[in-house]
Amino acid sequence: MDEKKFVSERVDYIASDMIFLRDRLFNLAELPYREFRSSDLLIKVLRQYGFQVTEKAAGIPTCFYGRFSSGEGGMTVGLLGEFDALDGLSQKAGCTVFSPVRPNAPGHGCGHCCLGIGSLAAAIALKEYLVESGRPGTVIYYGCPAEEGAGSKQFMAREGLFDCCDFVYTWHPDSRNMVDVSHCNAIMGANFYFRGRSAHAGATPYLGRSALDAAELMSVGCNYLREHMIPEARVHYAYIDSGGTAPNVVQDRAVVRYEVRAPYVEQVKELYGRVQNVARGAAMMTETSVTAELAMAFTEYIPNLTLSPLVSAAMAEIGAPEWDEEDYAMAAAYLESFPEDSKEAIRERFRKDYGEDWEKVWARPLDASVKAFDAADITLQAGSTDVGDVGCAVPCVNLLVATACLGNVGHTWQMTGQAGSRLGAKGTLTAAKMLALAAIRTMDAPETVAKAREEVLERNGGKYCCPLPDEVRPPIDTY
Ligand SMILES: [Zn+2]
Repeated sequence: MDEKKFVSERVDYIASDMIFLRDRLFNLAELPYREFRSSDLLIKVLRQYGFQVTEKAAGIPTCFYGRFSSGEGGMTVGLLGEFDALDGLSQKAGCTVFSPVRPNAPGHGCGHCCLGIGSLAAAIALKEYLVESGRPGTVIYYGCPAEEGAGSKQFMAREGLFDCCDFVYTWHPDSRNMVDVSHCNAIMGANFYFRGRSAHAGATPYLGRSALDAAELMSVGCNYLREHMIPEARVHYAYIDSGGTAPNVVQDRAVVRYEVRAPYVEQVKELYGRVQNVARGAAMMTETSVTAELAMAFTEYIPNLTLSPLVSAAMAEIGAPEWDEEDYAMAAAYLESFPEDSKEAIRERFRKDYGEDWEKVWARPLDASVKAFDAADITLQAGSTDVGDVGCAVPCVNLLVATACLGNVGHTWQMTGQAGSRLGAKGTLTAAKMLALAAIRTMDAPETVAKAREEVLERNGGKYCCPLPDEVRPPIDTY
């Protein structure tokens, strides 16, 4: 059987259905842990295609997985789908001037409407490959909510939901076609609840103990901490509750959320411990009390180095999306729509990446090639993803496939518009073909899969350990 031809034809055959579903997710644009209709839709389609679905997985109402097995034994392939949107990023599909569907409403500014459907189409093509080829095997589509919130995959990994997989592949909408060479930071996030005592701030302030003062002193303490932490680490915060709006009342409560990032989860744990000390110090200074509620944590993401070359070769076999003149014109209009200072930074990068040709690329800003994997390209990215925990439990690779113009900036209305456009559609279908073919090529290489597993065991010290203790439940209403 010509596997490349088979998966390409299968994906093309279901293309119009899949793009209809991409559009449905695009229009639903549901926020993290609130993806009820999006997950219902995906579950319904999985069942229609003969997958056995388990709902409400890992204690999260919108988390699920669908399994299809053919024959006895064989490898088990996992594919990850995300489908949550970002607040405030509503934008009409394909529209190159700012024009929200509804002002300030959520939108798919990270392209997860494409992500969820690309992986779904890959799962369907792979299922049909197993049936058609008579090869035994299992394919599992994991519906992973809240990637933009407190995540789900670390809770799924903690429950061992990926343990049955020989390998897991996923993809992310991007401006390039390549294996993701990001080393994403590990992260921990917690709410700090300060409690004090209220009093009349004019008449009897000496009777009060201010929780807001404590929260502010925690900021001061963390600012001093910054000099004495590794330069790659990040500490950021947001006030969740500043204790009310009346200056004439001593604030008896304050809640501040901290997120701590560093290249490796062990570094994050250590730094989080120091931030907790700062919080305790702030409480002591102000004679208030503090409780820390650890709510989210992701392990660092590093691509599986053993599987990456294999995935990269399958991506090259499929090739980049086939862009036409209309696509190039749309991409150029999106690129021009970024603010002038963003464009200056993008031009700077283009000059570095494309040399003298940069203006030609600027005029036709779509990636029409697949960049080959090179482990030397792996660089630390400040961001974090819950895919890290999957890669710490089983061999995992993230593919980047172009759904947007070169130079695109993520989490913008431009990203939303492109995700819902013809560019997003072509990227989604290409990603499906790449994922399915990469999975087949990997099933053909059991020795490489065994080595990839060894790589995981070396990284995790023999067993996946979730950075969140068992008592931390998914923070569905609190994060
Ligand atoms: Zn994303």
